[in-house]
Amino acid sequence: MKKNSSNIMALAPNTSNRRETVCIFGTGDFGRALGHKMIQSGYPVVYGSRSTQISNLIPKDAEVLSHAEAAQKAAIIIIAIQRQHYNFLTPLAEVLRGKVLVDISNNLKLNQYPESNAEYLAQLLPGSKVVKAFNTVSAWALQSGTLDASRQVFVCGDDVEAKQMVMNIVRALGLTPLDKGSLLAAQEIENYPLQLFPMWKFPIFLSLGLTAFFFIYCLVLDVIYTYIYEKNNFSFFIAITIPNRVCPVMALILLALVYLPGIFAAIIQLYRGTKYRRFPDWLDKWMLCRKQLGLIALAFASLHVVFTLVTPMRAFVSWRTSKGIISQALNNKTEPLNNTNAWISDSYLALGILGFFLFVLLGITSLPSVSNNVNWREFRFVQSKLGYLALILSTAHTLVYGGKWFLSPSAYKWYLPNIYMLSLVVPCAVLVVKFVLIFPCVDKPLTQIRQGWERNPKHSE
Ligand code: NAP
Repeated sequence: MKKNSSNIMALAPNTSNRRETVCIFGTGDFGRALGHKMIQSGYPVVYGSRSTQISNLIPKDAEVLSHAEAAQKAAIIIIAIQRQHYNFLTPLAEVLRGKVLVDISNNLKLNQYPESNAEYLAQLLPGSKVVKAFNTVSAWALQSGTLDASRQVFVCGDDVEAKQMVMNIVRALGLTPLDKGSLLAAQEIENYPLQLFPMWKFPIFLSLGLTAFFFIYCLVLDVIYTYIYEKNNFSFFIAITIPNRVCPVMALILLALVYLPGIFAAIIQLYRGTKYRRFPDWLDKWMLCRKQLGLIALAFASLHVVFTLVTPMRAFVSWRTSKGIISQALNNKTEPLNNTNAWISDSYLALGILGFFLFVLLGITSLPSVSNNVNWREFRFVQSKLGYLALILSTAHTLVYGGKWFLSPSAYKWYLPNIYMLSLVVPCAVLVVKFVLIFPCVDKPLTQIRQGWERNPKHSE
């Protein structure tokens, strides 16, 4: 009888206000928050607890019974208890036979136990149907109603019907269930809330390391060198001048690093003559964090734009401008407009503006809400073709700006090259190799390899 009603619910979850009773084991933070939300959504809730005394923290309208009594009242039992206490469930095996047990538990560390908590629960109670769900939703989010960030609820389990029943409850609570398959996926689901920006670690550490290196490099050449040899105290360069040198350099290098792994992958595939061999681990990991590298590069480019826009407000800049005007007045001579310089300055600004525009476009298309709305070809066009165009424009922007210094001996303070020269090494290398790769004699075999052709097929008939 109970089974039938749950099936009807599965077909029409929102058509009736009469819902099946749900039992929650544990009157802790999560049990109470979930119970409250369920009562709001029209589910009668009964708690199974070690103490049947009703405290004022328990949601009004909920019953509190012993575990065995509460379990008898519902087909679904949510176990809102830490894994280390699961042993107390073993004596209840008979009462729990055939029931759907929802494991919502999390651990304190990644892969803390050899098996997931849900699999452990299933081993303790083989007669019950265990479903993993709700562990990525916090008690705070349930209570405060700010569920937007955690609207997705990952669900997995071996019993399809049990999983459906849990997914219907998830929907009724206003959340979105995401079926992750069998209970084997539980370990992965339990690890989600414990991960700390997994794809961001390498890009962030790399950016911090490179930023620190370039900052110190500029400090040595622009502040310390000038102080020692020219007796000028330019320590205030630390606030805007140096950051405005480091930011564009970082943006350019990181953008090039987005495309460099693709170049390595192409060279490896050409060398091996097949795409059916795994790339080295470091390359796989690098490929997976290209989006993050690109977004950090965009952040640096945006900072460069802001720093550049405030340049006219700087005291040092107004002093330098007025010094030039006064010296012209004292000499009673107006310097003629240098057409070459005007061209250089306008060209590098135009290249920078166009490069930044494409950079922003790349950033926008990498947002899931946008990338989900374009097809694979459109996504590749923006990320690959327009991405390379952004890299070409940004490299040209730097070349036009810094090019005049590259050949001047005064640019080599302490025999060290200017920071802009350093910033061009990786982007130029990427662009040159990419240029070689698009030659038909290289591009043709590469395309064939990517379509499955092998130079030395192992399984030839
Ligand atoms: P909690 O506030 O410590 O509550 C746990 C409850 O377990 C207690 O209130 C108690 O309920 C019961 N319990 C404690 N010791 C027990 C024992 N020896 N035998 C039987 N029952 C015992 O913890 P919580 O924050 O609600 O978390 C409960 C579970 O939800 C955990 O597995 C946690 O990982 C998971 N979770 C929590 C959150 C969250 O935001 N808090 C989010 C996702 C998942 P009674 O006194 O009623 O027996």
